[in-house]
Amino acid sequence: MLLEVKDINVHYGKIQALHGVSLEVDQGEIVTLIGANGAGKTTTLRTISGIRSLSSGSISFDGRDISKVPGHKRVIAGIGQAPEGRGVFPGMTVHENLLMGAYARKGELDKDLAEVYELFPRLAERRTQLGGTMSGGEQQMVAIGRALMTKPKVLLLDEPSMGLAPMLVAQIFEIVKEINRRGTTVLLIEQNASQALQIAHRAYILETGRIVKSAPASELLNDPAVQAAYLGAG
Ligand code: ATP
Repeated sequence: MLLEVKDINVHYGKIQALHGVSLEVDQGEIVTLIGANGAGKTTTLRTISGIRSLSSGSISFDGRDISKVPGHKRVIAGIGQAPEGRGVFPGMTVHENLLMGAYARKGELDKDLAEVYELFPRLAERRTQLGGTMSGGEQQMVAIGRALMTKPKVLLLDEPSMGLAPMLVAQIFEIVKEINRRGTTVLLIEQNASQALQIAHRAYILETGRIVKSAPASELLNDPAVQAAYLGAG
């Protein structure tokens, strides 16, 4: 198992946001975590990337317990994150933003940059534009591209479709699929459950800080209870 989250509890002060959350992501998978507003999706992701600390439970990555490893070392270990709200550096060009993703490593930057520009032709066209002047969808691409420049073994994506026009949403999901096809494991958090389930191999459903269901994505797509609650049907 590449990533194993075991029975984690996470608090914000006295408020408990996660109650014994466990999930696993295997090498090569796209796993999606779906759930309503406030269910704890972002908290789960931030605990995996080390931005939040856990009260109990454990996280292992690549065979190692990383529960107490600081966030920047988790990036070096291979956990890449494109954060919710994007976090693009507004005063840097697109190109500089991408290079920031690679600041902690050596190696073939040119080849990796070329690959990001191939995945996102829009970024190649706009490489000298300032990050802050890119549109919402373009900034999302910058954030994903920057995370890819860390050469992650697993890419954590927090609502990449948020706030995007439908055509761009479809494009972003296609790109996530392509990133996975090229060998990167993906943990995807989404409110857009229908699209996420269509590209994912497996899925977990989070409700008020607890995992209430886990199954192959195709099974959840056809589950009437899931359809009623998360897919706008029923
Ligand atoms: P959304 O889809 O709306 O982003 P989410 O599933 O990602 O929701 P989280 O952001 O993880 O949910 O929030 C889980 C719970 O923790 C919510 O009840 C939220 O109010 C609470 N919470 C999140 N961040 C904080 C914080 N900094 N301080 C206090 N409570 C917080």
